[in-house]
Amino acid sequence: MSTREKEKLLSVVVPCFNEEENVGAFYEELLKNSPFFEEEGLDLEILYINDGSSDGTAEAVKRLRGQDERVHLVSFSRNFGKEAAIYAGLCRAKGDYVAMMDADLQDPPSLLPEMFSYLGQGYDSVATRRVTRKGEPPIRSFFSRLFYKLMNRISKTEIVDGARDFRLMTRQVVDAILSMCEYNRFTKGIYGWVGYETKWIAYENVERAHGKTKFNFWKLFLYSLDGITAFSTVPLAISSVIGLVFCIAAFIAILALIVKNLFYHDPVAGWPSLACIILLVSGVQLFCVGILGQYMAKAYLEVKKRPIYLVKEEF
Ligand code: UDP
Ligand code: MG
Repeated sequence: MSTREKEKLLSVVVPCFNEEENVGAFYEELLKNSPFFEEEGLDLEILYINDGSSDGTAEAVKRLRGQDERVHLVSFSRNFGKEAAIYAGLCRAKGDYVAMMDADLQDPPSLLPEMFSYLGQGYDSVATRRVTRKGEPPIRSFFSRLFYKLMNRISKTEIVDGARDFRLMTRQVVDAILSMCEYNRFTKGIYGWVGYETKWIAYENVERAHGKTKFNFWKLFLYSLDGITAFSTVPLAISSVIGLVFCIAAFIAILALIVKNLFYHDPVAGWPSLACIILLVSGVQLFCVGILGQYMAKAYLEVKKRPIYLVKEEF
C-alpha cells in the first residue's frame, strides 16, 4: 500500500489500567515500526486512555509526552472498565486508520505492517485471534471456550473464539462503531455486528510484559453476561419454552391422574411428590424471572443515559 501521495494519520488507542511499567515499553515497541510508518507515509498519534489507574500510569504518559508530541493522554475520573476506555479512544482518535492495542504488549506492535498490507488489499478491518491460550489457567480457558460456543449458538452476531480487541480499522469502520452509542458495550460483539470486510489473522498467545491481568474470573463471568444480554435474546425465548414444556407436562400428569382415578380407582398418593413438584416449578419460575431481570436491568441502565466515561484530564 505505498501511497505516498498524501500523509495519512494512524491513531493507536491504548487502554491502560495500572500499567505504569508497560506505558514506556509499549511506546518503544511501537516505534520499532517507525521505518515502516515512514515508508507508508503514515503520521502517528498514540492515545493512552488512563482508566482510573492508581499507580503512576498518568505520570509515565506525561514523561513520554515531554519527549514526543504525538503522545496523548485521556485520564478518566475513576475506573470505568476497558469497554469505556475503548469507546473513549475511538471517540478521540482522529486517524484515517485506528489501531486498538493493549498496553501489556500482548498485542504485538510488530504485527502492524502485516495488518496494513491487508487494508491495502481492500479489507476494511484486520482482526486478530489467539490460536493458543498458553500461560492462561486451564479453568479460565475452558470457560472462555464454553462461552464462545454458547454465544455463537444463541447470537446471530459472529463472535470469534480467541478474538482479541487488537484491531486495525479504517475510519469508516470506526465511525460505524461510534454510531452505536449504547451504554452496555460489548465490543467483541459490536465489531461483528457492524460487519464490513474483516481479515482475521492468528497468532500465538504472548504473555503479559509486566504486571498482572486485570480480569479475574468473576469479572470475566460478569462480562460474559453482558455479552449475552447485549447480543442475544435467546435466553428470554428459552424461558418461554421452559414454561411451555412445564405446562404440557402438567397437562399430561392431570390426564394420567384422571385416568388412574376413573378407570383403575387408584387414589392419588403422597405429598412428598407434590412438595418436589412445587419446589421444581417455583425454582424454574425464579430462574426465568431472573433471566427477565437481567434484560430489565440492562434496559434500565440504558434508559438512564449515563455517560459512558468521565474525563479528568486530557491533552
Ligand atoms: N484495562 C482497562 N481497564 C480495566 C481493565 C483493563 O483499561 O478496567 C486495560 C489494561 O490496562 C490492558 C487491557 O485493558 O491494557 C487488557 O487488560 P488485561 O491485560 O488485564 O486483560 P487480559 O489480557 O488478561 O485479558
Ligand atoms: Mg493482557
